[in-house]
Amino acid sequence: MAHQKSAQYDRVVRKQYRELMDRCKVNLDRMDSELPPPVEDFQDVLKDRGVSRRSFIKWTSIMTGALMLPPMFKPMVARAAEQFSRVPVVWLHMAECTGCSEALLRTSYPNIDDILLDTISLEYHETLMAAAGDQAEQCLEKALHDFPGKFVCVVEGAIPLAMGGKYLTLGPKGKTGLQLAREVTSKAAMTICIGSCSAFGNVQAAKPNPTGAVGVGQALGIETVNIAGCPPNPNNFVGTILHCLMFGGLPALDGLGRPVWAYGKRIHDYCERRPHYDAGEFVEEWGDDGAKKGWCLYKVGCKGPYTFANCGRIRFNDAISWPIMAGHGCIGCTEPNFWDTMAPLEKPIQDATIGGGEATVDHIAMGLTVATVAGIAAHAGATAWVHRDDKDTANKE
Ligand code: SF4
Repeated sequence: MAHQKSAQYDRVVRKQYRELMDRCKVNLDRMDSELPPPVEDFQDVLKDRGVSRRSFIKWTSIMTGALMLPPMFKPMVARAAEQFSRVPVVWLHMAECTGCSEALLRTSYPNIDDILLDTISLEYHETLMAAAGDQAEQCLEKALHDFPGKFVCVVEGAIPLAMGGKYLTLGPKGKTGLQLAREVTSKAAMTICIGSCSAFGNVQAAKPNPTGAVGVGQALGIETVNIAGCPPNPNNFVGTILHCLMFGGLPALDGLGRPVWAYGKRIHDYCERRPHYDAGEFVEEWGDDGAKKGWCLYKVGCKGPYTFANCGRIRFNDAISWPIMAGHGCIGCTEPNFWDTMAPLEKPIQDATIGGGEATVDHIAMGLTVATVAGIAAHAGATAWVHRDDKDTANKE
């Protein structure tokens, strides 16, 4: 009986994946015909950068797994990667430190993610573009004119609302950040918030927040995809664009607008120090014997049990390391208000007792998970990457 049920379940899952695959093929064909032509052939770019076909195939396996798809989707990930450079991107800078752009640019050798980011069709990026002043403004106007409803708007930084938004003015016409963000996002196919400041306000919105800074979604009242982190991991940005190319819509989002494939689990769940946590082996103070032995950092303030992100799985800087591996606890930077509530505390948020600690910590995390999962149902697949004029037509009908 159990065997029959399991076989029936397998059949249902296989059918769903076949349907998903069909949807993926149709969408990639649509993207192929609708996106602007590529400046360079992606396979030629890989060849020029010394990336072998074997490395590319290996990367598609890793990215397919990261996106929580079965291996049958590897060819689709490869096709989406080939179209990556054809997606027009307008990148806005609000109130921020440019650390998110820095994280995306930092690389010491050309892995596939970096090459994808290098080839991205950046129509406008205030920090990276050579143009300035009126010239830069013209680039933005051209991008909005050439790709209406077809470009991705990436916003870095929070939006100040105090004094009518005048704490942030941009460009030769002195527009406020709020005006500029409203104008550009209203013409975009989708808005991606890169980093926790644009997602939730965070560092810019930390107490006492004199500029009244808030996240983009809150400032404009729009749905955004939040690639949270301070800075976020570039792979989570790349994976989200690949997903949109493959399925013509946003990935499932949690209740905070973060893609579930990247932010669905806690740091604590992926952590290499977790066996020490379970064994009750903790660093009691910086530099002690436990620190030298690589024990758990919970008692010196690691916020991994309260924080949802995949940092430990994909790591940073060419996947070399990540904060907990380097010896410092997680500061909770993918969560709202982390700067006020988590980062400065070099102790656990609650007085979890060792031994009973896991029960306490998991209890806290379970509450966060329930809130997160509740949001998934509301957001999953809710927004399709369709052209804005298609949406308008649908609305009129
Ligand atoms: S508390 Fe922090 S260091 Fe310890 S296992 Fe959890 S995430 Fe890792």
